[in-house]
Amino acid sequence: MAARQFPSLFISHGSPMLALDTSHPAHPFLRGLGQSLGKPQAILILSAHWETPTPRVTGAPHPGTIHDFYGFPAPLYDLRYPAPGNHTLAQRVGGLLCPPAAVDLLRGLDHGAWVPLLLMYPQHDVPVLQLSLQTSQGPAHHLKIGEALKPLREQGVLIVGSGGATHNLREYFHPAGDNQPYEDFAAWLQTTLVSGDRAALLDYRRRAPQAARNHPTEEHFLPLFAALGAGGPKARRLHASFDRTLAMDSYIFEE
Ligand code: ZN
Repeated sequence: MAARQFPSLFISHGSPMLALDTSHPAHPFLRGLGQSLGKPQAILILSAHWETPTPRVTGAPHPGTIHDFYGFPAPLYDLRYPAPGNHTLAQRVGGLLCPPAAVDLLRGLDHGAWVPLLLMYPQHDVPVLQLSLQTSQGPAHHLKIGEALKPLREQGVLIVGSGGATHNLREYFHPAGDNQPYEDFAAWLQTTLVSGDRAALLDYRRRAPQAARNHPTEEHFLPLFAALGAGGPKARRLHASFDRTLAMDSYIFEE
């Protein structure tokens, strides 16, 4: 029997505290999302928190849980996401890219990957692979990576870009009091994604309202382009909320 085709997703992962903070609406949203999608054969996730000069994909049989954050409550450091890896699939993923992505046998899963997956698939029984970003190469490079990964969806692989719809940490810790610039950017993103205007998205730094303020650096926005490239043509917003200046919006890209 052929594997069920999965959509691709873009998820805003927000603060690592989302793993424990049941009061934030994005927490129950992610819990419900895994249930509504059902279990894929494997998950391939690109997170804002793994950047390398050229693409790398995790190939460890049991990728570790990386606690790549500082100054948070102790219970957050006790969390583990012991999903298996899949070395054969990692080699296949590597070979889909040109030049091929290197298979990394040591790297584990960073919090941009494991925090949302802990909520979506708490039983950690679906193999997880992570693919790195090349931030200096911008949106078009990540769109192309997504397009190269697209055939995996037909084999039951769920492709996830994990970043942030908006991501200004300085103003997160020192809010200016006016959330309008973030709301405007999130609204532009929804309109532009739903209308399928890829040219505007690729040129978001010039065309989106206050793009550089919403994304002082690009790493939290680039996973969106991988999800866009890998997914079906229809974009739909599944969730919208804010954690101060961080838009927690998530999108599905389906046929
Ligand atoms: Zn992050």
